[in-house]
Amino acid sequence: MIETRDLVHRYGDEMENDEGRATAIDGVSLSIPDGEFVLLAGPNGSGKTTLVRHFNGLLQPDEGEVLVDGTPVSEDLVAARTRVGMVFQQPRDGFVAATVGADVAFGPENLGLAREEIDRRVEEALSAVNMEDRREDRIDELSGGERERVAIAGALAMEPDHLVLDEPFTGLDAPARESVVEHLRNLKAAGTGVVLVTHDLRDAFDLADRVVALGEGRIAVDGPPAEVRERLAGFGIRVPPVSLGEGPPEQNP
Ligand code: ADP
Ligand code: MG
Repeated sequence: MIETRDLVHRYGDEMENDEGRATAIDGVSLSIPDGEFVLLAGPNGSGKTTLVRHFNGLLQPDEGEVLVDGTPVSEDLVAARTRVGMVFQQPRDGFVAATVGADVAFGPENLGLAREEIDRRVEEALSAVNMEDRREDRIDELSGGERERVAIAGALAMEPDHLVLDEPFTGLDAPARESVVEHLRNLKAAGTGVVLVTHDLRDAFDLADRVVALGEGRIAVDGPPAEVRERLAGFGIRVPPVSLGEGPPEQNP
């Protein structure tokens, strides 16, 4: 469970008074239970990245608090980072090793796990994104979609309860996007919670249990996809059209 309570985040010089600092998150209280698939939407600059960076202590609150499984993130950073995996925007900046296998092993190695356990996790994480045969491949020779999948595998190898992905579709073509969505579908089925940050909901709308939209650092919309569709559209967020296939499946003649 990830919880924020009256979270406020301001950017700018701490020495300035509060009026001189831009408020990126302006009192957000949000609970995300284990296993829930949340789409986090909102226009550019609405605070999505700032919010999720609080989930595992990459940022500290100016006011309010953030808890993972009931413990304030600030009190146990390691627990928060173990339970909440993060896949950043532009994963090409986030790789630490030259090859796929070495990169995915990096996180578990830092947990100080035994070699066999590290190998098991790397194998499972790579097979979860269909890259089990690619351990020796060089990351700088991969396509954008493959890099995205390696970044996801790196987070999965930590065996987190929640996987947070910040705009993972940026720069991916349609087949690569579909492949990532497919892997998120499998993760959800396996019980991992997913928080997918995106300004375009069309890719994963039907997969989500819940859609949360931010506007100017506050929660503007929060509910199941089918119930919030119209409010989102009014808010300038692209949602998929109601598909004609909704309802009972058509019979083939
Ligand atoms: P989103 O991810 O929804 O596009 P962000 O969380 O990146 O939104 O940004 C929220 C607000 O905070 C924006 O007004 C943005 O300009 C500002 N902001 C983000 N990062 C920084 C930073 N490092 N320094 C100063 N202001 C920032
Ligand atoms: Mg962002």
